[in-house]
Amino acid sequence: MRVLHACSEVYPLLKTGGLADVTGALLPALARVGCDVRMVLPGFPSILAGIGPTREVVVLHDRFGADRVGLLLGQLPSGVPAYVIDAPALYAREGNPYADAGNTAYPDNYRRFGLLAWVAADLAAGLDPGWQAQIVHGHDWHAGLAPAYLKAWERANGKRAAASVLTVHNLAYQGVFDAGVFPELGLPADYFAMHGMEYYGQLSFLKAGLFFADKLTTVSPSYALEIQSPEQGCGLEGLLHDRASDLTGILNGVDYEVWSPAADELIAARYDASKPGGKKVCRRALQKAGSLRPQDNAPVFGVVSRLTEQKGLHLLLAALPAIVARGGQLVLLGSGDGWMEDAFREAALRYPGAVQVEIGYDEVRSHQIVAGADVILVPSRFEPCGLTQLYALAYGTLPLVRRVGGLADSVVDCTPATLADNSGTGFVFDEFSEAAFSLAVDRAFALYEAPAQWQQAQRNAMRAHFGWDDAARKMLPIYQRLLGQ
Ligand code: ADP
Repeated sequence: MRVLHACSEVYPLLKTGGLADVTGALLPALARVGCDVRMVLPGFPSILAGIGPTREVVVLHDRFGADRVGLLLGQLPSGVPAYVIDAPALYAREGNPYADAGNTAYPDNYRRFGLLAWVAADLAAGLDPGWQAQIVHGHDWHAGLAPAYLKAWERANGKRAAASVLTVHNLAYQGVFDAGVFPELGLPADYFAMHGMEYYGQLSFLKAGLFFADKLTTVSPSYALEIQSPEQGCGLEGLLHDRASDLTGILNGVDYEVWSPAADELIAARYDASKPGGKKVCRRALQKAGSLRPQDNAPVFGVVSRLTEQKGLHLLLAALPAIVARGGQLVLLGSGDGWMEDAFREAALRYPGAVQVEIGYDEVRSHQIVAGADVILVPSRFEPCGLTQLYALAYGTLPLVRRVGGLADSVVDCTPATLADNSGTGFVFDEFSEAAFSLAVDRAFALYEAPAQWQQAQRNAMRAHFGWDDAARKMLPIYQRLLGQ
């Protein structure tokens, strides 16, 4: 079956978060289970630079504010064929793909991602005579209009070009635009309606996808349920509840080619569950690189994260004095909200030798922290899936997480019972509060003082397996049903 994935990021060419890791690994996994998969991406500078040799499939004129749009076909480093939309007027902007240097969303994002969705839909309707998608699978709001364009095509032509799937990686980002731009999108007038893409008087690209796609998926079973509730539905819970029978939660996986301590060249030493010695070397290297006191009598906590409200790291700021007082250490790598960046910078100045903070984005350092820390902290308010805790498990770094979304689906709290049956892999707390977070931190300190139990939990973590092939095998029946197979 021919499946086209429409998305805005893909590892290793362009990554701002977990979405890129997912699209980078899911497609090769789908190819391994027998799908003829391709991707369509906007021609951002790093994507054009990394795609390798391409051929021009077609040239279009006057689309979405661009005089000339070239559709190129090349190949991702994984070998997956990829169409790249070469429209410099829309995409030739360095840095973050969605926002300018001041972190303000580009005002023409509706055109930039409207074009992505339009091309995706047209690739099902014959834009490339050599390959026509039978299923268009969009990711997040960036591709949210693709199902709407497909339904519009179906109405105009009296037959279906392709079936559609939309995956929600984070419902909090909805692609909302002023209703005044609707006529520019070229969709039927009646699509701007409550039963359509209207969202409290504005346009929502994500809602369009959620309304018009034939099937919906999200990135963990728990999140699939949570987004049907007012707390996490971001105003779309009614629609999601109505579509519950079309919505499936499939947990993301780990690309073990990239995240495996036995083969990782970015870390100080290699190790695995049967030969764990290298982890101590990684821990020392992490302490040394961060000018932290060399100690091994209290845990080193690690954070690799966007610094946003979602990630709950103000709970860590509140708990930090107690962590340091007990001899614990923190290494944090992240970037995001200015006030939080400042607060962590100040903490590093206040606790030299115990707290090291790097504001920025650094793929290499992220591996070193995941390998060298004892505990990875992910105290999110909400978390569709979360990848950091999955990577941490693979490296025997025990995740301390809130019981929400994919965190709840992937980490088993260490209790006497789960330690006895070798299933405990981390520390899980329920209430989103400083007190509950601090109690979980206390439990991490306590377990650290019982080395035999700690090591057992590390072995449990490293043996837990979250492969992309499992995720691909769960996606396949959704595709098969759509094609009546
Ligand atoms: P989200 O997509 O919400 O940011 P995920 O946990 O799903 O969260 O994915 C985050 C991904 O981005 C992980 O691969 C994580 O290692 C990476 N990451 C986040 N912040 C940084 C950073 N500052 N430097 C390097 N990698 C980072």
